[in-house]
Amino acid sequence: MIITKSGKITDGFYIVGPAAVPVYLLDGPAPVLFDAGFTALGPLYEAGIREILGDRSPEYLFFTHSHFDHIGAAGYFKQAWPGLKIGCSRRCREILSKESALRLIRELNREGAGNLIKMGVRPLSEAPFEPFDTDIVIQPGKMMELSPGLTLTGLDTPGHTRDFISYWIPEKRILIASEAVACYQNNGYIQTEFLVDFDACLDSLMKIKNLDPAVLCAGHNAVFTGEDAGRHIRASVGAANRYLAMTEGFLKKEKGDMDRTVSSVKALEWDDRPWPKQPESAYLLNTRQRVKTIWARMNQPVL
Ligand SMILES: [Zn+2]
Repeated sequence: MIITKSGKITDGFYIVGPAAVPVYLLDGPAPVLFDAGFTALGPLYEAGIREILGDRSPEYLFFTHSHFDHIGAAGYFKQAWPGLKIGCSRRCREILSKESALRLIRELNREGAGNLIKMGVRPLSEAPFEPFDTDIVIQPGKMMELSPGLTLTGLDTPGHTRDFISYWIPEKRILIASEAVACYQNNGYIQTEFLVDFDACLDSLMKIKNLDPAVLCAGHNAVFTGEDAGRHIRASVGAANRYLAMTEGFLKKEKGDMDRTVSSVKALEWDDRPWPKQPESAYLLNTRQRVKTIWARMNQPVL
C-alpha cells in the first residue's frame, strides 16, 4: 500500500501532520518522534501527537538529517515537552551548532511558511524557528532498547546529505528512511534525492534493500507498506540511475554549462509536474546541487 495521508500506518506507528512534511510517531512505553518538519507546523504536530499520546509525553526525537524541513519544530517540541531527548548523528550535531546554519534554517522556515499558506495548510504558527540543544549522538549500527522487546538502530545512509541516519525498528520491520530513498510525487514521478554523493546514495539504497522493510517511510509525501516498500526501493535505484544518465547526457551536450544543464533537467522533470510540488526555488537549489555532484563525478581522476 502507498499511504499519502496522515494517521495510523500500523499498530503503534503513525504519520502526524501533513504527509508532505511528516513527523513519524512510534508509540510504546517510551514514545519516539522521528523528524520535526516545518517550524510553522509546530502546533499542528503537537495537536496530532497529543491526540495519540493523551497525557503521556514523547521520550525521544531523532533526526534523519539537519535540513530545515526535518528539524523545524524541534525547539517548539522541547518547549511543549521539556523532558524530550533529541538525538542525531555527530555531523548533524556539528551543523546544528553553527550560527550560520541556524540562520539559514530560520530563514528557510520563514519562507516555507509562505508556501504552506499557498498550499492551504492550517493552522500555522508565525513564531520563528527556535534553536535547541541535542542530547544524544547516534552511533550508527548500535542498537538501542526503547522498551522490552522494542529496539531501534540508526544506520549510516549518506547520499542525500553526509549527516544522514535512517532508523530501523527490526521487531516491526519499520524503516524511517526519509530522503535516503526517492520522493514519490503526486503524478507518480519518482524524484531521486541524492544531493552530495551519487555512489553513496546507491550504496545506502542497497543497505536499505537488504533490510527488506515491511514499512518504508520516505521523507515526504508517502509511506510504503508490504510489496510497495520493496517496489519503491527498486524504483529509487532506477530513478537515480536514469537521472545520472540523463544529466550526464545534458552536461556533455552543454560542455559542462551549469545553468543550461539545470534548465534542461528542469524542463524534463519539473515544468509539467502538477501542483502541489516542491517550490521552484527549492527545486532549483537541489537540482543545481545534483548536477554539480554528477559533473564532479564525471571529472574524477581515473585511478
Ligand atoms: Zn533533505
